Amino acid sequence: MTSMVDIHRAHAQSHKRGLIAYIILIGLLVYVATTKQFDAYITNILMQAVTYSVAVMGLTVVLGLCGQINLAQAAFFGLGAYAVGLGTVDYGISFWGCIVIGIGIVLFFGAFLGTSTLRLGGHYLAMVTISFQQILTLVMINWIPVTHGPDGVSKILKPSLFPTPQSYLGFCVVVLAVVGYLVWHLPETKLGRAMRAVRDNELAAGVTGIDVQRTKVIAFAICALLGGLGGCLFAGGFAYVSPDQFSFAESIVFLTMVLLGGVSSPVGAVIGTGLLILIPEWLRFLKSIPGLYLAIYGLAVILIVLFMPDGIWGFVSQKLKRFRKVLHLSADVPELELVQTQAHADDVLVVTSLSKHFGGLKAVDEISFTVKRGSVHALIGPNGSGKTTTLNVLSGLYTPTGGSVSLDGHDITHAAPHMRTAVGLGRTFQNIRLFRSMTALENVIIGGERSGNPVESGALAREERARAALNFVGLGDRAEELVTSFSYGHQRLIEIARALAGNPTVLLLDEPAAGLNSTEKMELRDLLKRIAAKGLTILIIDHDMTLVGAVAEHITVLNFGRRIADGDPVSVLNHPDVVTAYLGSDANAAH
Ligand code: ADP
Ligand code: MG
Repeated sequence: MTSMVDIHRAHAQSHKRGLIAYIILIGLLVYVATTKQFDAYITNILMQAVTYSVAVMGLTVVLGLCGQINLAQAAFFGLGAYAVGLGTVDYGISFWGCIVIGIGIVLFFGAFLGTSTLRLGGHYLAMVTISFQQILTLVMINWIPVTHGPDGVSKILKPSLFPTPQSYLGFCVVVLAVVGYLVWHLPETKLGRAMRAVRDNELAAGVTGIDVQRTKVIAFAICALLGGLGGCLFAGGFAYVSPDQFSFAESIVFLTMVLLGGVSSPVGAVIGTGLLILIPEWLRFLKSIPGLYLAIYGLAVILIVLFMPDGIWGFVSQKLKRFRKVLHLSADVPELELVQTQAHADDVLVVTSLSKHFGGLKAVDEISFTVKRGSVHALIGPNGSGKTTTLNVLSGLYTPTGGSVSLDGHDITHAAPHMRTAVGLGRTFQNIRLFRSMTALENVIIGGERSGNPVESGALAREERARAALNFVGLGDRAEELVTSFSYGHQRLIEIARALAGNPTVLLLDEPAAGLNSTEKMELRDLLKRIAAKGLTILIIDHDMTLVGAVAEHITVLNFGRRIADGDPVSVLNHPDVVTAYLGSDANAAH
């Protein structure tokens, strides 16, 4: 057994070695790019590949990490290119000044497009980005006094610091290397994890405390920024820009590059870009036979995508996995502490006349109940009685038709899911919602990163806490495994650990026993008792009367969306309405 600090030191050291190797590699590349005599043709191809790669890495972030589409990357690329072209030629602004202005412009448009449309999701984003792309092309062509129209801008100067094409190429390689390094490490940061969580399961991301909308806008803005930066470098490299270089077709080329190379990594971006620029050059000799060139080019792309659905790098890294050593270090992790924020009143969750109607169906109809601090409160009722709907209204996935909810004195009736999580609401789902591309540990770390977590601090503490939460549910030794390799019952435990890592004030559990076998149910009951013993307030929904009877101190019963009983277990379970409505149907179900 080693301590967490030792493990972190080992990681930091291997990280440092990787960085040094990377700097040496880039240094060599820059040395070759600047000293070896290329002819102008090769220099141009390399210049194009390097500047395009910067823009394609933007798509790695927005599409690969965050799962959002952007069909206007060529427009952002063009904005950057025109900022440098027009700025240096028409307005006499220095190259560096133009880069700053260009990045400001693309960030503005990226953030504006993102905030206005990402909320709508899916197809809207595709449509809006296509429209933006088309509008920008029209502006570039038709606003002749400013953009020079279809003729484009020529005689763009390189910065005086890098006067020759090859020295400038070396500079672009360095920029690409820095961008690549940052994009490579982004997934391990809090922001990058949030993006992956949004991509994997948007609903669960919100409930786990992630501001979904903000995360998407940031991803989109980073994509626009890298598109613009690539464009700025491109303009300096080619001394000439024109509207047809930044058309919708080019946006599709950018997208093909990232999909071809592998959307999940900046390495894929470079591979895809390089290939799509090189293939046409290799096939140049075919140009004399019309059509054949395009057919072969198209066939090559289709074959690659067909046989490597995760792109070339996705395919290669899968093959390389066998050779990679996985450090399986088990660390001494302290016992999980569930720290509560300053306690206010005894009534921690107050639900008043809450309703949720779906058209004419009153799924939840004016129900009221109060959860006492530190208690285990059960919400029971036959199938379809409105339990899950109540929980979805409580956690902000549905807006209520009427009534109010207050948590720890805060009125959260209309708050977004992540705001409720920030106030102290944690939950699990009836049909498990984990972030499926991630390890158990990463899932739980995200849970601990909610804002408002009273013990959230540095990365080390966060990981230690996540490990403690996994230990607490009995899965500490499998922290590094992907969640998809766990059994259904264990996935449920990971969901509970994810919620616990955030130190919730109230934990909402939706049918935690559903789908578990009897051994797993026993383990779950034991776990709930251990959680309750730590003083956490739990609101549990379940069918399993033995489980509810064993852990609950207070029971609220729903039937057809209405509250039919509320009180201590003995009186509630003997209530005549409950016996007929709930236990009656349960007895029938048993036969
Ligand atoms: P429970 O969790 O108690 O089994 P639910 O809350 O899932 O019950 O469902 C209560 C009622 O609301 C059911 O009749 C169900 O069909 C209906 N319902 C739930 N969600 C929706 C929805 N999104 N749209 C329309 N009807 C819904
Ligand atoms: Mg349900």
